[in-house]
Amino acid sequence: LVRKVPHYQKIRFQKLFIKGGRLIIPGCKITLNPGIYIDRGRIVKPFALNCSQILILELKDSEYLSPGFIDLHAHLREPGNSESETIARGTLSAVAGGFCEVLCMPNTYPPVDRGSLVRYLINQGKKADNAKLLVIGAATKNRAGKELVSVEELRKAGVVALSDDGLPIGNDKLMYELLLLSREFNLPIINHCEVLALSKGGVINDGKIARKLGLPGIPDIAESIMVLRDIVLQERTQGILHLAHISTEKSVKIIRWAKKQGIRVSCETTPHYFTLTEEHCRHLDPYYKVSPPLRSKRDVEAIKEGLVDGTIDIIATDHAPWHMRYKKVPWIKARPGIIGFETAFSLGYEELVLKKYLSLENYIACLTQKPRKLIGRSLLVKEGDLALITIFDLAQNWLYREDRIFSRSVNSPFINKELKGKVTKVIIENKLFIF
Ligand SMILES: [Zn+2]
Repeated sequence: LVRKVPHYQKIRFQKLFIKGGRLIIPGCKITLNPGIYIDRGRIVKPFALNCSQILILELKDSEYLSPGFIDLHAHLREPGNSESETIARGTLSAVAGGFCEVLCMPNTYPPVDRGSLVRYLINQGKKADNAKLLVIGAATKNRAGKELVSVEELRKAGVVALSDDGLPIGNDKLMYELLLLSREFNLPIINHCEVLALSKGGVINDGKIARKLGLPGIPDIAESIMVLRDIVLQERTQGILHLAHISTEKSVKIIRWAKKQGIRVSCETTPHYFTLTEEHCRHLDPYYKVSPPLRSKRDVEAIKEGLVDGTIDIIATDHAPWHMRYKKVPWIKARPGIIGFETAFSLGYEELVLKKYLSLENYIACLTQKPRKLIGRSLLVKEGDLALITIFDLAQNWLYREDRIFSRSVNSPFINKELKGKVTKVIIENKLFIF
C-alpha cells in the first residue's frame, strides 16, 4: 500500500514577480519587500510589469525569502528499497521541507560505486523535477571498505562528494589515500565516524538508559576516536574532510581544537541531535532509534554550543526513511534512522533561534551558505543566479500530522508535535511549490 501524496501545488511559470516579504541572506541586511523577478528560472532585473503572462506571488510580512536550503545528507533509498522511499517522493518531501537541493547518500542496493549508477540517479532526479538531486558516490567498492572506487570515473559521472555513509571509512590507509584524492579531484570526503570494534553489539547510547534497561551500549568514543583520527590524517593530507552527523561532546571538543590549530575540517549535525536525548529511548520506541544513537543531555548541550561558536558548520537532515516493516519491530531489530526533511527547519527554528542560541541569520547560514561552500558553490538571490528560493512564515504554527507527510515513510518521532515556523513556498527555477 503506497501512501497518498498530501495536497500541494506545483505551478510552472515563465515569469514571476515576488511582492512583499523580507529577504534574508547571511552576511547582508534584511531587505523589506525586495521585489524579486524571475524569468525562465533565473533572477533578473525588474522588467515591465504590464507584460502579459507574469505570475505575481504576494507574501505576508511574516514571510521570509531565503536562498534555497540545501541538505548535505539524505537517504533516498533508490535503487533497492523503493517501498521505503523513491527519488520522486523523497525529492518532493525535501521541497516540502524547504530544500531546493539534496545530496543523496550512496548506501543503496547496489551501492553507488560506479558511473552508470550515478548517471541513473541524476536522470531519475531530473525526471522527478522536484528538489535538485546531487549525488554522493561511494568511497569504496561495494562500500566494503577494502578497495577504493575509481574517483575519476565517479567525478566524470557527476558526483559532488564521496562517502560510505551508514558505515565508516575505517581503514586508516584508505582514508589517508581518499583525502589525498579529495584534494586532487576537489571532492569532499564525508565520513560517518564510528569505530565498529567499539560500537559492535551496542543498540543504544552507552549511558544511563542503557544501564537501566540492561542493554549493550554504543559509547561516545566510538565516534570521537574516529573524529580525532580523521583530523590527524587531514592535517597531513590537506584534503577536503567533512564529518557527518556529529553527536557527542567529545567530538565537538576535538573539532573545536582542530579548527583553532587551523586544520581545515567541516562537520554537520542534525535536528535530532540537538532536540532529543537518550531519555527519549526509555520506552524503546524504535522511532527514536538512530545511528549514531541519541546521546546524553550534556552531549546535546555541547552540540548546541558547537553551533553557537561555529565549531559545527552545517545542519543536515540525515533523512532516513524506513517502511513500517523495518521500524514496527522490537528495538534491537529495528533499522536506525528517521525521516527528516519536513521537520528540520521548524525544529531548528524553535530549538536554536527562539531559544536564542543562534540568530535567524546564522541559522539560515547553516542550511544554505555553509553547506554550499563545502561543495564549492554559492547562492545569494542576486541577478543572474538560478532561482532557488525558500519561503518560510515565522508566524505560522502547525501540527506535524502523519497524513500530511510527503515522504513515502512515516518513521518520525515528531508526529503530532506542534511546530513553530513553516516553509510555505519554494521556488526551484521555473517551478513554484505551494504547501
Ligand atoms: Zn551515517
